[in-house]
Amino acid sequence: MVDDPSIAAGASAELLFRGIGISSGVVVGRVYLKTPHDDQVVERDISRDEVPREIARFESALIATRRQIRELQAGCDPAVASIFDAHLLILDDRPFIENIILGIENRRKNVDVILVDVAKGFMQSLAKVKDEYLRERVADVQDVTRRIQQNLTGKKSTLADITESGTVVVAADISPSEIVSINKDRVVGIALDLGSPTSHAAILVGKLGIPAVVGLHDLSPAAHKGDPIFIDGGKGLVVVHPSRELIEQLTRVVEARRGITAKLARLKDLAAETRDGYRIVLSANIEVPQDVDAVLTSGAEGVGLFRTEYFFMSRPELPTEEEQLEAYRSVAQRLAPAPMIIRTLDLGGDKFLSNLNVSWEESNPFMGWRAIRFCLAQPDLFRTQLRAILRASTFGNVKIMYPMISTIDEIARANLILDQAKKELMERGHAFNPHIEVGAMIEVPSAALVADLLAHYVQFFSLGTNDLIQYTLAIDRGNERVAYLYEPTHMAILRLMKNTIDVGHRSRIWTGICGGMASDPLMTPLLLGLGIDELSISPAAVPVVKDAIRSISYSEAREIAEAALSSSSSVDVHEMSRELTKKIAPEILELVE
Ligand code: PEP
Ligand code: MG
Repeated sequence: MVDDPSIAAGASAELLFRGIGISSGVVVGRVYLKTPHDDQVVERDISRDEVPREIARFESALIATRRQIRELQAGCDPAVASIFDAHLLILDDRPFIENIILGIENRRKNVDVILVDVAKGFMQSLAKVKDEYLRERVADVQDVTRRIQQNLTGKKSTLADITESGTVVVAADISPSEIVSINKDRVVGIALDLGSPTSHAAILVGKLGIPAVVGLHDLSPAAHKGDPIFIDGGKGLVVVHPSRELIEQLTRVVEARRGITAKLARLKDLAAETRDGYRIVLSANIEVPQDVDAVLTSGAEGVGLFRTEYFFMSRPELPTEEEQLEAYRSVAQRLAPAPMIIRTLDLGGDKFLSNLNVSWEESNPFMGWRAIRFCLAQPDLFRTQLRAILRASTFGNVKIMYPMISTIDEIARANLILDQAKKELMERGHAFNPHIEVGAMIEVPSAALVADLLAHYVQFFSLGTNDLIQYTLAIDRGNERVAYLYEPTHMAILRLMKNTIDVGHRSRIWTGICGGMASDPLMTPLLLGLGIDELSISPAAVPVVKDAIRSISYSEAREIAEAALSSSSSVDVHEMSRELTKKIAPEILELVE
């Protein structure tokens, strides 16, 4: 972990920062500080005669930028490449280009200055738009502008020039094209002041596979070039000037973790089965089709949740039925005969699409026009997705799952639209699996309480605990101020889960969990003991959760679940789970604590 022995000098006081970890792993390196001054522009007056030359400079910079972006796209995986489509659209935007040319002619300044001013105006107008998707394009305009600027001056991105190995990039923010130009042999970590885990930059940083933390607020003003810096991308922790003791301790932790991870990798082809032979299905969650690679290497048995809305959001236009079919087919075929559960669009809440002619403005979007409610109000969009899923069902073991069901009527109407989609395909002569299984996500308390009635309409349930906790305990899942109340082992949650599982079994249907709680190996014994049939988790958590399953007996799991259901304290339940894990699989505590 520490290649440079001088890093451990511990000369200055430790500075600790907490943010949001977006790519796990721990590392110690030296700060490379990217400052906003890197992008500063020199202003120059030009004569009337110089105008054509300045316009020509601009046009060559546009051509060079377009070529570079196409080259970047060609070298990226398709999910990443689609992010750059928005950049190409900006480069072809007539008003953007014409305003710059007019600015050069009228204001007689060098193009570098006019470009920055026009882009600023563009970004200010976008920032005011209510539509979240369009607001997010501000970052794209900024990124494209920076690239045109670099082509005007001939300067390269400073991040591409990093030559020191063991470098940790520290910045207020970095753009997608800077991220893809990062030299991965030299840069060992990334720490940013800004950013949310769902931003484009965070998605790209996550795919670099190096420890990264965003949302650190005031790290970059406090760090200096060359400072020793420690990053824990799992915990979202950054320490500038880590002490010698901290580094020694971390080196031991990293080595121990490396050994454990290598051992757990050997479980890949073994079943998710308790010591006494109780077997469940261990699946993984994906957001875009390319994530299936991580699923296949993780040792998961299939996909228990494909969050399709990200596939819709990572492109400028709505995907057609054929494009969706291609995406779903590619995953289904690679997984077959393992199952792939496709969740129909879960838009609304905090996920919006700008290319739909609808107003997303609501005062309480998580309680509003979200998921199945939105799809039932947009039957054409919904039927198109259902037709694509149905057609993909001939290529593998495909199942359909509806999100945010809260009433019986919703599931009956969704199934009716599914029947219409089937009829349309028959009329068009397209093949599909007529017996495709349909499931309901149980993520609203009302659904968990009437699971016995919902069971008549579906073949499986999947507990979406991220939302079930949010809606049951009345905690906005994205609000840091009430995050301390977000308690998966709250008695109300355990009872709702138990009711759903028991009702499912009485109705002869299986129940899984695809919320984040299932990825926590300390929760595995409890969830097994509640009688869960399937866990769908992040691919990275598959080895450790499989280890937890294989380390316990079903009778121990039943005991802890019974104790949990009769306890009145969620803290006690958590402590019991920790103690049990310490007894049956102490290596798990070394990995997660
Ligand atoms: C959940 O709510 O637990 C879930 C899996 O769905 P999402 O996180 O996409 O809302
Ligand atoms: Mg949900």
